[in-house]
This record gives sequence, C-alpha cells and structure tokens, in this order.
Amino acid sequence: MAIPLPVNFYKAFMNSVSATDAFAGGKGNLALLPGFDLELWGVPTSAPAVDPNNLNFVYQRFQRGVMHYDKTTGTTQGLLLADYFKAIIIGNGLPPDLNAQAKSSPLYKQYDSSKSGWIARPNDLPNSDLTGAFEPEATVVIDPGHGGLEIGAVGRFPDGTVLREKDVNLQVANRVAELLKKAGYRVIQTRTADTSVSSVNKGLAGAGKLDIAADLQARMDIANNARATLFLAIHFNGHSDPDQRGTEMFYGRGRPHSGQSLRFATLMQQKTVAALSAVGYATVNRGVKDDQRAVGTGNYLYLLGPNAERPTTMPGALAEGLFLTNAADLAQLRDPKVIEAIARAYAAAVSEYLGPSPTSATSSSTIETYMVAAGDTLSAIAARFNVSVLAIVQTNDITDPSMIIVGQKLTIPAS
Ligand SMILES: [Zn+2]
Repeated sequence: MAIPLPVNFYKAFMNSVSATDAFAGGKGNLALLPGFDLELWGVPTSAPAVDPNNLNFVYQRFQRGVMHYDKTTGTTQGLLLADYFKAIIIGNGLPPDLNAQAKSSPLYKQYDSSKSGWIARPNDLPNSDLTGAFEPEATVVIDPGHGGLEIGAVGRFPDGTVLREKDVNLQVANRVAELLKKAGYRVIQTRTADTSVSSVNKGLAGAGKLDIAADLQARMDIANNARATLFLAIHFNGHSDPDQRGTEMFYGRGRPHSGQSLRFATLMQQKTVAALSAVGYATVNRGVKDDQRAVGTGNYLYLLGPNAERPTTMPGALAEGLFLTNAADLAQLRDPKVIEAIARAYAAAVSEYLGPSPTSATSSSTIETYMVAAGDTLSAIAARFNVSVLAIVQTNDITDPSMIIVGQKLTIPAS
C-alpha cells in the first residue's frame, strides 16, 4: 500500500552519519556514507506501515532500529534499538502505542532504584542486576581552595621559605584529578592555575578586598552546571595556635544530601589518616566535623551550606589535610611522598564513594592499598592488579624489590 505521507525515512536514514562523524576532519569519500548508515541501522525488516492504533503514526523497522513518522507534528525520528530497550526498561520516552505494546514485556518499567538490584519485579528478570545501569556518568568536581590574590594559610619553614595554601591545594588537586581520570571518572576542576575562580573578581573588589562570596559562588556554579555527582574542596589548615595540628574533614549539615556527605567525609578521613600512617606520619585524627564546628554554632560553611545564593546540589566535603601553621605537619608537606599519599587517599575515597567508574571494569584501574600476605611476590601482586612491577616499586618507593614484608601496605597505582 502506498502511503501518501512525507515520512522522509530514506532521508533520515541517509542523514544518520555525517562526513564529520565518519571521517577525521570531515574529509573523506562521501560515497562511503550510505555504507556507514547501513552499518548503523541494518537493513529494513518491514515496509513502512501505519500504526493501526494511531493513523497519524507510521513505522518502518530496521535490523537495529525503528523509524517513526508523526503526522501531527510532521517529524521523522529514528529510534535505535538500544534506546528503545532503555525506554522500555525505564518506562520513559515511549510513544503511547509502543508503551501499550511493551506492557507485556518482562523488561517493562523494571528499573527501580528503591529495590534490590534496582529491579522492580525480580521474578520476571532472574539473575539480573540493573544497579545504576542508566544513571548519568559520575562527575567529580574538585575545588582547590583559594587562588590568585587569596593565598589562604601560610606555612613558614625554619629556613625562612614559605608554603602557601593556595599552591599546595592546587598541587594535590591536580594529582587527585589525574588519578581519577586515569581510573575512568569524569573530573572537572574549578581552577587549574593560580587564579580566583569568579570572573567578576579577577581584580580587587571594594576596599582592596576580594569578593570571596562571589568567588565561592563561582565554584558552586561550576559544580551545579556540570550536574556533578560529588564535590571535593581541597584545603590545608591554618591556626593562630601553632600547636594545632592534624587531619580533619568537614561536611555541610542540614542539607538534603548531608547523609551522603557524611559518608564521603568519613571515607576521606579514614583513608587520609591511614595513608599518612603508611608513609610514616602519625597525623592527629581530628575527625569528621559538621560545618558548625568550623564556623560556629548555628552557622554553615558558605561553600557547603544552604545560605549561598545558589547552594551546591550534590554531596560534598571540604578536606583540611594537615596544618601549614604547625611545624611537624608542615615539614611533612615538603615530602613529595606525603603529597602523593594524600592525593591517593582522596582519590581512593572518591572512588569508593562512587563505586567503580563506567570504564574501570575494562581498564582495571582502581586506586587502592594492598597488604602483603605470606608467599606474595611483587610480580604476583603486580599481575593480580594488572600493573607493572616498576609502577608498584616507584609508587611505594621500594628500594629492594626482593624485600617485601608480610603485613606491609602497598599502594596499587591506577594502571
Ligand atoms: Zn583554605
């Protein structure tokens, strides 16, 4: 039967793969494009047919998709089978007639994050697990505190040299970002250079002071606009009392995601204290604190709290790794091994909080510690974690690879 409608299926098919999609720089033999279209869709498996339940809809099925024309809007849509399956499983985005058809499918509206294995009716889908299957890619926003004119805390070594908080924040943040990217996460940094983040206060605002609220808001905006899954602010502590020292993590209380923030801050604290201990520094464990411990009873940290103009919409924590104003803590921060240990602890906390990244299943690039057991050799451990012996030796500063001891903790690098 001829269909007197401008369904444009041929045109939609032929426009599926453009020259820029197919060839580097968009330059190539255009006569090859229909072959790519065929690769994508497969061959037609039905003639175009009017939907008997809705005379305004016309469908044509291909091996890997369905073309759909809607007369009421005059639009032609191609729906690849993967999208069609996804629409059935999450019960969203199906045209009413396909929705009616799909109702008898064991897959129909099975995706339910409140159920075990995220499956609404496990009897219909035995031995399946949909946990997080269609969740958006995890995005971590890393915020190195201060920058530019705002230097944060300052540490002074006995020899007179100075360590500025903004610099060590950025150094650690860069390394955390690198580790997480290698492990397959999407990572965004609020700053990668020694500048403020807000574009309105690159200079001085008011009477020679930075507009700190605007700068903090700019950091929150980056996280919110990226629809980030997790926010990590990296700071190092300062105090007028030089005896104050140690490691502490803050989270925002009274927020919709405070429970998750507390869980993340707790992982951060545990892993940082353990990592510092593993490189030989017994940091003072000051614990995980809600933000009124930082800014006073009843108050919130602007960056994590509800009082910003546009507060963060995701869980997060603010790390205070060590005190720049304490001589013992400060001395540690001169040691690249300590910086590396802190960065790895933060990356491991993020990775444990978020769960495996979408690509980590194939690239086996986790960040973790391993305790040497009886009978272990470095090459066996390296093989187990799919990294090179050299990478383990370098990461752990091992001087004699034949001398590993039972109980020794090894940091396993991201491969
Ligand atoms: Zn700070």
